[in-house]
Amino acid sequence: MKIRNRLNPSNPCFSFEFFPPKTDEGVANLLKTLEDLAPLEPGFVSVTYGAGGSTRDRTLELVTRIKAETGIEAMAHLTCVGHTREELRELLQRLTEAKLDNVLVLRGDPPLGQKTFTPAEGGFAYASELVQFIREEDFNFCMGGACYPEGHVETASRDDDLRHLKAKVDAGLDFVVTQLFFDNAFYFDFVERARRAGINVPIVPGIMPITNYDQVQRFTRMCGATVPMRLGLQLERVKDQPDAVVQLGVAHATVQCMELLSRGVPGIHFYTLNKSPATRMIVSALRART
Ligand code: FAD
Repeated sequence: MKIRNRLNPSNPCFSFEFFPPKTDEGVANLLKTLEDLAPLEPGFVSVTYGAGGSTRDRTLELVTRIKAETGIEAMAHLTCVGHTREELRELLQRLTEAKLDNVLVLRGDPPLGQKTFTPAEGGFAYASELVQFIREEDFNFCMGGACYPEGHVETASRDDDLRHLKAKVDAGLDFVVTQLFFDNAFYFDFVERARRAGINVPIVPGIMPITNYDQVQRFTRMCGATVPMRLGLQLERVKDQPDAVVQLGVAHATVQCMELLSRGVPGIHFYTLNKSPATRMIVSALRART
């Protein structure tokens, strides 16, 4: 199933993102988690692609197994980091052979310790180049890409970032998923600017339920997402009470999602960080409301 056919404001789909566990036991646990999530009828799940090493193989293994063993549509993330075009072609062939229909096409972050992204020799400098390559090579994937309501951390201006996004979409993307945000105003403003710039593909909001105080500090530093002042103060107040942090995170994300749904988003993508109970609570609440 091509994900672009599931992104529909009159019947929005919920999707869940996971990262590949390092051990076989972790993989087994994740597959079990997915069985628990199945009753929530996710439109699809996606599995991130690591910066290097063995977890990269696990991305392919997991998406293949998720689709075959749970019947849930699964999308692999793929980045340009450290890959030549031949290696990328081979990976895409493996995804085709595994009968996977969807890929999230990314550039990837610079490796730890490096400030700027250096493409591999014979590889790609930007996600748009990989998108174009996939189209030119006649792979038949439905392709998603990343976008940044608050601007990508490396970009000089949001206008530049939007121009680059337009080029990436024009290269052949079917939909985009946003970086996480905690204030819906950033998403609504971004969608308006994107439409004005001629970007017409579905823009799926990415939501990360806060489940851990230190983690949210780390993530927002890394990706530049703004924590609204009120939420920041509430978090400070409960930061030493792990259960209260989760409750606050679930409540905040639920309110965010309700507003997004009421304003006609095509779907909501949850950054689960492999902690599904928070996402399960939010989606259960959202399903109960319809
Ligand atoms: P690009 O679209 O290539 O953009 C990167 C930067 O280059 C931007 O600042 C853009 O404005 C600029 N740019 C683009 N084109 C040009 C051009 N022609 N000239 C000059 N500048 C240009 N990372 C992982 O490693 N693995 C994952 O699985 C993963 N999953 C993600 C999922 C989502 C939904 C999101 C939002 C991000 C994900 N990331 C992942 C993080 C992502 O790899 C980083 O944010 C990365 O820094 C940028 O990737 P991109 O695909 O957006 O890059």
